[in-house]
Formats: sequence, C-alpha cells, structure tokens
Amino acid sequence: MTQIPILYNDAYDINVPVSHRFNGTKFSKLASQLKQTDFHQRLYFYQSSPVRYRDVLRTHAVDYVQRVVERTLSQEEVRQINLPIDSQLVKRSFLALNGTFTTALKALEEGVACHTAGGTHHAHYTNGLGFCVFNDLAFTALNLIEHGLVKKVLILDLDVHQGDGTIDICDGKKGIYTCSLHCEQNFPFQKRQGTLDVALDSHLEDTAYLNKLHNTFKDISKDFTPDIVLYDAGVDVFRGDQLGYLDLTLEGILTRDCAVLEYFKNHNIPIATVIGGGYSPCDTDIARRHLSIFRAATDVF
Ligand SMILES: [Zn+2]
Repeated sequence: MTQIPILYNDAYDINVPVSHRFNGTKFSKLASQLKQTDFHQRLYFYQSSPVRYRDVLRTHAVDYVQRVVERTLSQEEVRQINLPIDSQLVKRSFLALNGTFTTALKALEEGVACHTAGGTHHAHYTNGLGFCVFNDLAFTALNLIEHGLVKKVLILDLDVHQGDGTIDICDGKKGIYTCSLHCEQNFPFQKRQGTLDVALDSHLEDTAYLNKLHNTFKDISKDFTPDIVLYDAGVDVFRGDQLGYLDLTLEGILTRDCAVLEYFKNHNIPIATVIGGGYSPCDTDIARRHLSIFRAATDVF
C-alpha cells in the first residue's frame, strides 16, 4: 500500500480573533484529526521548511515581499488581505509556500502528495487579497519549471472562489495551464481570464457539479497534457460553508476529490493537493470537511 506524503508545519495556524471569518486554528485541528482517522497509518508526515527568498521573487514583486517581511504594508493593503499581519503570519506565509512546493516534489516521486495548507490563490504579483499573502500555487508552478523539474503544470482550482491571483501571476507564462471551476456570483467580483474558466451558478448541487467537472477533464485533455497537477481541493463548495454559494454535500465533495485523483492517476500524471478554502466558526467542523482530500488520496492510491 502506498504511503501518502503529507506536508505540515506546527506554525501554520493564524492568529485571528474568534469572531473572524477565517478560522485560524483549522490547520492544527486538521493535523490532529488526520492522526485519528482510520487511514492515519497510510499517511507519512513531513515538516515544511522555509523557502528560498529568491524563489519568492519569481512570484511576487520585491517591494511587496519586503513590505510583508518588514510589516510595513499600508492600511489598505492589510484591509485587502483581511488578516492581522503579525510575525507569525509572515513566518507561516513563507513556510506554506515551500510546503506546497515540497508537496509537488513528493508527488513527482510518489505519484501523489497532500499539503495540510495552501491554496492562497487570491495573492497577486504586487499585493495580497482575501486571506492570501503569497500565492503558493503560482510559486510552485513557476519554480518547478524554472528549476527544470517539469515543463508543463496544470493548476486545477476547484475552490468555490476564482483563483484570480494565480491567473494574474501565471498569465503568459509558458507551460502553465490554469483551470478554475468557481461560483460566478461569488468573490472576487472582477473575474480574470485564465486558460479555462468554468463559471457555475449559485446553489449548484452534486450531480450537476460533477457533470461539469467531467466535461472539464475532457476540455483540458484536448489542449494540454501536464507533467504534474496542482489541485486546490477547496471545501467552500460545501452547502453549509459560510462563504460559498454552492450546494455540494460532503459526499459530493469526496466524490469530486476521488474523481480528480482517479482521472490523473489513470493518466500517470502526478498530483499534489492543497486544502484551499473552507469557512465555519467551528474548527472541528471545518477540519472534518478538509479531511476529504486526504481520505480520497488513500482511497485512490
Ligand atoms: Zn475559496
């Protein structure tokens, strides 16, 4: 049986007030729940390590990165990110970048690997946005190619929100295909044009969603055969999510995650997963929803 590499770091949690929309303890809660699952023996945990500074500059403007490090972002920039910019957030933002990159390296070796964070897809080249400081998906895609590890990367973003920052950073970059299935009526209100965007109506349910997903696989395969897939398995498509407008059940989300993994496994394409968005005031609930992609990985591999 395959051991599934899991990237984690104890420093992933984010210090936010209890009333904040972002649940800052979901990362440690997810890790502790993973260790109690009936599939925990299939998981092999690795600690993510800090990133190389120069690699970050392929993804973000140097003055933006410096202002994050020095914590001198303007009030408006902080408001756009909508998280308190303390030293912990700065530290974990760098760790999470390398966490997704290392997940991709493990996926190239093992066929699959899963990050217990990542999917900060609203971060743009010169600014953060919507709980996202740096963009781990764009960072990973660009650096995999730059370091000659792969030539072609598919970023498959199934978070309920469009990954506008990923599209911004990857626009025109050779070898990167961005695909997003997102709720049209949801944030960000100004959508970007990625390689393939599938806009979904509010309140879409499991069957209709899964049909769209299978059609999307076909559309991608007409144009692009990636060397690796970076999969954002956001669970804010759940009907009980605080910030999503879709109506998927937890069973539907597990079916989605298994379908994605099976599709690329059957095509012998490695896949690295990130957890993406998921919003609930209760960290136990939200962590339980994020278990889906890990359960799917152990089911499929
Ligand atoms: Zn989201």
